[in-house]
Amino acid sequence: MPSLLNRTKVVATIGPATNTPERLADLIDSGVSVCRLNFSHGTLDDHSQALRAIRTVSESLKRPVAVLGDLCGPKIRLNAVAGGHIQLQPGQAVRFARGEAECSGSVLTTNYASLVDEVQAGDRILIDDGLVRLLVTDSRENELICACTVGGVISSRKGVNLPDSNIAVAALTEKDRRDARWAIESGLDYLALSFVRRPEDVAELRALLGKSTQTGVVVKIEKREALDHLDALIADADGVMVARGDLGVEMDVWRVPLVQKDITLRARVAGVPVIIATQMLQSMITNATPTRAEVSDIANAILDGADAIMLSAETASGAYPSLAVDMMDKVARVTEDYLRIHPPEPHAPVVSAVSPMTSAIAHAAVQAARDINARLVAVWSATGATVRMVAQHRLSIPVVGLTTDERVYRKMALWYGVTPIRVDPIGNPAEMTKLLERRILQLGFARPGDLIVVVTSTRPTTPGATDTTLVHRIGAM
Ligand code: PGA
Ligand code: MN
Repeated sequence: MPSLLNRTKVVATIGPATNTPERLADLIDSGVSVCRLNFSHGTLDDHSQALRAIRTVSESLKRPVAVLGDLCGPKIRLNAVAGGHIQLQPGQAVRFARGEAECSGSVLTTNYASLVDEVQAGDRILIDDGLVRLLVTDSRENELICACTVGGVISSRKGVNLPDSNIAVAALTEKDRRDARWAIESGLDYLALSFVRRPEDVAELRALLGKSTQTGVVVKIEKREALDHLDALIADADGVMVARGDLGVEMDVWRVPLVQKDITLRARVAGVPVIIATQMLQSMITNATPTRAEVSDIANAILDGADAIMLSAETASGAYPSLAVDMMDKVARVTEDYLRIHPPEPHAPVVSAVSPMTSAIAHAAVQAARDINARLVAVWSATGATVRMVAQHRLSIPVVGLTTDERVYRKMALWYGVTPIRVDPIGNPAEMTKLLERRILQLGFARPGDLIVVVTSTRPTTPGATDTTLVHRIGAM
C-alpha cells in the first residue's frame, strides 16, 4: 500500500549504475520521486530504455515518479585532445585557436567557434570545473593568447567556463533541439535548461515545446548573468535548480551558499519548486559513508526551504546509489521533524498578483488547517496550480494533491510536502469529498474522527475555478 511521500523530494540522476528495473525499484523504494535523465551522457536509446523502466517500476510500486530531462545547453567543451591528455604547467603560454583541430601541445580548440572573437584580454578561461585556470593576456584576429595560472592535466571534451565573458552563444544547440523533441514525444514531465542567462532563453525553449505541452520547464541557475534576471527567470519557470557545480566555477565559490539561500527564498515566495543540486553526497560516489560536511549540507538545504535535493554521479555512476538515497532520506526525515517543531518564518505572500482568488482560497485553507489542527489538507486541482499554492505555505501536515491528469499527478512528485493521488473526474464538491474520504481511509492517511481541510471547486473540471475551502470530519458522512 502506498504511503505518504516524503516531504523533501529526492531527485536521482539515472545512469549505468541505476538504469535497470531492479536498481530503479531500489531507488524508488528508498525514497526517490524524481528521476533525472542527463542528456550530457548516453544516447537517446539509453534514455528511452531508462524511461520505460522508470514508468514500469513506478506503476508496479504505485508511486508517482516525475521524469526530468536535463538539456546540455550551450556548454563549451574542449575538442578531442591528441594523445588523450595534456599537462599544463603554471606560467606556461597557451593559445586558443579557431577550428575543429584536436587540442595538441599548447594549442587548444573548443566546440564554440566564436570563442576567439568574444573573449577578451583580462578574462579567465577555466577548464574542467576550474581545476586548470588560464588568463587571457592578448586577443588577436584568430587566437587568444593565455597564461596558465593554475596548472594540471586536461583531457578530451572537458568543460570550459568563461566567468568574465558575456558570450553570444545560442541558448539551445542542435543537440538540445533533438533532445527536447524526444522529451516531448516521450512525455517527460520536466525539461531542465542548462546555462540559462536571460528570460529570452526560456522563451526559446517554450517556443520549441509549443503551447499545448505539459512538460514543465526547470531553469538551471549556473551563470552569473542569470542572477541579474533571477526574479524574471523564476516567474517564467515551473522549477528552479541551484546548479552549484557550474555556478561554483562561474562565480566565486565562497558566495554560492548565500546565493543558494537567496534563490531558494525567492523561488519559495513565488511558489516555484526549487531543487538544490550537485556534490550533495560527492564522497559517496566511492565511499559507503558520507562526510560530516555533506550531511550538514543536506540538512541546511532543507532548512533553507528546498523542495528537492538532487544526486548526480552518486546515483548515475557511483558505487553506492541506494546507500546515498538512504542517507539523504535519513537526513531529510530528522530535519523535517525539527522543522515541525521550529517552523520557518512564513514568507509566502498571502495573495498572489497573478491569481488572487486561488491564492486567497489556498491561504484560507492553510489558516483553517492550522486553527483546527487538521490531519491533512487535500487539494483538488486540474492543473496542479492550487496544490502548489497550498504547498508553498510549508505546512507541517501533508498536502494531498488530487488530480485526474496523469502528467499533473507525476509533476506533483517534485513538490515539498505533497503526496499526489490520481482520481476519476468528479461532478461536485460533496461527491468529491465522499470519494476523497474513501481513498484517504484506504491509504491510511487519516483515521475516522480526524479533521481534514479540502480545497475544491464548484466547477471541478474548469481550470482556475477553485473557489471552495471546506472542513470535513472523516467518517461524518
Ligand atoms: P550539470 O548541472 O550536472 O548538468 O552540470 C548541475 C550543476 O552544474 O550543478
Ligand atoms: Mn551544470
